[in-house]
Amino acid sequence: MVELTDVRKEYPGGVVALNGVSLSIGYGELVGIVGPSGSGKSTMLNLIGTLDGPSQGTVRIDGHDIAKLSDRRLSALRAHRIGFVFQQFHLAPGRTVLDNVADGLLYAGVAVRDRRRRAETALARVGLADRLDHRSHELSGGQRQRVAIARAVAGEPVLLLADEPTGNLDTVAGQGVMALLRELHAAGTTVVVITHDREIAASLPRQVAMRDGKAE
Ligand code: ADP
Repeated sequence: MVELTDVRKEYPGGVVALNGVSLSIGYGELVGIVGPSGSGKSTMLNLIGTLDGPSQGTVRIDGHDIAKLSDRRLSALRAHRIGFVFQQFHLAPGRTVLDNVADGLLYAGVAVRDRRRRAETALARVGLADRLDHRSHELSGGQRQRVAIARAVAGEPVLLLADEPTGNLDTVAGQGVMALLRELHAAGTTVVVITHDREIAASLPRQVAMRDGKAE
């Protein structure tokens, strides 16, 4: 699913965020990327999510060398194969729960009626079938993250990337979100979770430790 070979990422200004990272993640794995702030975790997730490219080395996602894909094909790869979950949820405040999830399918080219149907299914999957018409400010943090997860999985991605998904949640809500990610993994999705929470990391079947731009 993911193959990083000798990846180096240098930002303008000279910060070397990744310094020779090689990493292989198979289809169906559940992997935690752990490490202190500044160690390169988000940079790595951006590369895996094809939101950014490497300065050197190769990034292969689902068999594609991302440096060789046009912008159009990269967008298609993201829209059809990859789902994203962020610490800050990134829900549209004025929109309903259902619309937030359905809108996420816009770029996958799904017709409007199918978008709503698939959004409902995804929201039922995360236990929010009774909150479709609520707006995000009417939800708890844990519920908001469930909406974000529903949005990420509505397109049935093979790869789900979660950047500190429990970072803004209390322990109980965080455990609920992790349980949900485990369920998605059990159903066959490849899941990559960034976390600086050692307990969460320890509960995952595989951990990749980041330190100073290197993966251990
Ligand atoms: P982490 O997610 O582990 O906190 P990051 O990947 O965000 O680490 O950052 C790794 C290093 O790259 C840090 O030193 C950070 O300051 C730097 N960095 C991250 N993003 C940028 C950027 N867009 N421009 C310049 N430097 C950046």
